[in-house]
Amino acid sequence: MKKVILTGDRPTGNLHIGHYVGSLANRLKLQEKGDYDKFYIMIADTQALTDNVNNVDKVKNNIIQVAIDYLSAGIDPEKVNIFIQSQVPELAEMTMYFMNLVTVSRLNRNPTVKDEIKQRGFNASIPVGFMCYPISQASDILAFNSTVVPVGEDQLPMLEQTREIVRSFQNTYGGNVFAMPEPLLPENDVCRRLPGTDGNLKMSKSAGNCIYLKDEADVVKQKIMNAYTDPNHIKISDPGRVEGNVVFAYLDALCTDEDFKKFLPEYQNLDELKAHYRQGGLGDVKIKLFLNNVMQQLLEPIRNRRKELEKDVDKIYEMLFKNGEKAREVAGETLRRMKNAMGIDYSKFLTK
Ligand code: ATP
Ligand code: MG
Repeated sequence: MKKVILTGDRPTGNLHIGHYVGSLANRLKLQEKGDYDKFYIMIADTQALTDNVNNVDKVKNNIIQVAIDYLSAGIDPEKVNIFIQSQVPELAEMTMYFMNLVTVSRLNRNPTVKDEIKQRGFNASIPVGFMCYPISQASDILAFNSTVVPVGEDQLPMLEQTREIVRSFQNTYGGNVFAMPEPLLPENDVCRRLPGTDGNLKMSKSAGNCIYLKDEADVVKQKIMNAYTDPNHIKISDPGRVEGNVVFAYLDALCTDEDFKKFLPEYQNLDELKAHYRQGGLGDVKIKLFLNNVMQQLLEPIRNRRKELEKDVDKIYEMLFKNGEKAREVAGETLRRMKNAMGIDYSKFLTK
């Protein structure tokens, strides 16, 4: 079986370190390994519009931002097809057919969508398009016969929905049209759902609690210095909690023993630092300054590459448009096979 990787992000803002540890790091590893047949990264503008109906400009303008974030983080456009979702209209047609295989009550049970409805304050006015985005996401995955989908934990219900659609399509129409996709989660638990700087469960563009890959050094430092730690750890001598402490979550996700040698040699590793914090006698400023060093080390080269890339955005748009055409060919072929299996391929009625 062919190994096809597909993943994506919504152009609702710049990419943040949650994206980096949750999905981008795995993409970079896969790219490095190179043992795949095709690798796609989709900028999900159509999906972003489902909860941004009055923010078209935001979505439109963030397409290039997300593309620059990918390239500056090290995604190689020679190895990966980066394209824009709306430039592949076949995906929308597939969604129409898949909608008949999913019930409203099934959509209502999707835990990620439920959380997002609360977070966005939709109450009883949930756009139909938003409710159905897990189905359109299934089209994105299935159109390219994807087998591996590198994502964070919030995307597991979407993968489950996609897998159900594959089974349901096969039971209804047969034809073995689709590959069965598998999610690829980060090995490190904390990276699967990195908390926001405010201590909220997930760092997310829509929640405004992010450290962005493009943030300038002083902004990163300021966000770290204001990050949520343990509200009961008031005096340095107080014992502190590591669980739910954002600084420790970020250190768990990012720091290595090498970083201790380089930036905080009094400790050998994170376990020692945690033990001291729990016991009392270790202040927040010290752990925050250490995190700042670790974070700047990761972000500085990304920021520098971004500045170079920003000088020629036309070239990046050109790459995206060309890739969109290639993606259309693949999705078109899947759609043809799908309609054939469904028995709605009318080409045989053509007389000439
Ligand atoms: P939005 O708030 O607009 O939904 P987002 O910050 O949740 O934006 P998405 O574009 O929805 O970002 O997510 C893109 C990818 O990044 C998905 O695979 C998702 O699982 C992953 N991801 C997003 N936030 C995090 C996080 N805090 N921790 C780990 N992975 C994350
Ligand atoms: Mg999201």
